[in-house]
Amino acid sequence: MDTHAHMVDTHDDLVEIYRGGSKNYYKVTCMVCGESHQSPIKPGYSSDAFVKEYNREIRVVGCDMLLSHLLGAHPDLYMLGDTLDKESQ
Ligand SMILES: [Zn+2]
Repeated sequence: MDTHAHMVDTHDDLVEIYRGGSKNYYKVTCMVCGESHQSPIKPGYSSDAFVKEYNREIRVVGCDMLLSHLLGAHPDLYMLGDTLDKESQ
């Protein structure tokens, strides 16, 4: 959870939230291979007001999805925090 908080607070461009049709989606793009993953925000929790109020929570979920991808597809980059911090400097 600490890692998530760090990612969310220092890399707020990692998770993109956008409107698609009648739903809002969140999307993350891997900074290593450029592959993107997107998912609709839960039905019933997809109103613009919800997205605005829970923006940070949605970003945490997006970061979780990105972490899962990184650990699965790029296990050699397990030192993720270091990688991200270098990239942002
Ligand atoms: Zn990747």
